Amino acid sequence: MILFVRDSLESVAGVPEIVGYIFAFLFGAAIGSFLNVVIHRVPNEESIVFPNSACPKCGNAIKAYDNIPILSWLVLAGKCRNCRAPISPRYPAVELLTALLFIAVYWQIGFGAFLPVALVFVSTMVALIFIDSEHMILPNVITYPLLGFALLVRVTFPSFFAGDYISDLNAWPISLFAGLNLIVQSVLGALLGALIGGGFLWLVGEAWKRLRGVDAMGLGDVKMMAAVGALLGWRLTLLSTFLGAFSGALIGVVLIARQKDRDLQTQVPFGIFLGIGSIIALLFGDRLIAWYLSTFVQ
Ligand SMILES: [Zn+2]
Repeated sequence: MILFVRDSLESVAGVPEIVGYIFAFLFGAAIGSFLNVVIHRVPNEESIVFPNSACPKCGNAIKAYDNIPILSWLVLAGKCRNCRAPISPRYPAVELLTALLFIAVYWQIGFGAFLPVALVFVSTMVALIFIDSEHMILPNVITYPLLGFALLVRVTFPSFFAGDYISDLNAWPISLFAGLNLIVQSVLGALLGALIGGGFLWLVGEAWKRLRGVDAMGLGDVKMMAAVGALLGWRLTLLSTFLGAFSGALIGVVLIARQKDRDLQTQVPFGIFLGIGSIIALLFGDRLIAWYLSTFVQ
């Protein structure tokens, strides 16, 4: 996907740019509040629509005025209004993080057709990151719809915007099929991205299993990166994986070094790092790759 074309709100609608940033923050905080529900309920296979949020300790329904993103937690000093049970700081943290990520997405992508796609992608990554950190799973009910969403974007975007938002159309090997219909090229790019994104992780997992006899890589990671690959294409997805592996290895080494028994089989929820890598690749990947090619290849 290409991010070099940035339409500003000012040029599209004549509204000052700062309005876009304020709206991105408020909308992100509200979506973060919804993601808290997803993170809390999806691993337990509960409905994300019913019932309304309640205090897990006393069961008291949470009033609308106590459910304002970030602010309510601060006003209540992190405690339930009814029973004073502590409320996890994860709630305002997810809201603030999502709000800041929405600002970053708006900053990089601007007020264009790809903006809603990027916001859905980043929100899904936040949900996967926090679910993996708590439960060590990447649920199919999130990774499969993300794959479906990616394919939908890949099929519909070329019909409306030609190749504008799809950067891998101009890159090898999809560039070899330049004579074909744009939608066919776009879907080929998605399939290649899914195959390389998922396949690379599957190979690493298999190799690790043969070498050490440990099943360290779950299939959830493979499905997650197949979905990321379908949307971002093979280059950005390999970049996501390398960024993820790099940050994961750094933090993994710190965690293992701090342990007394130095157990190398400590499970690391790798989805956290793949999610972080995927967000960085979405926001800056095309620029990073262009910089890399112009600096080291030519
Ligand atoms: Zn309570």
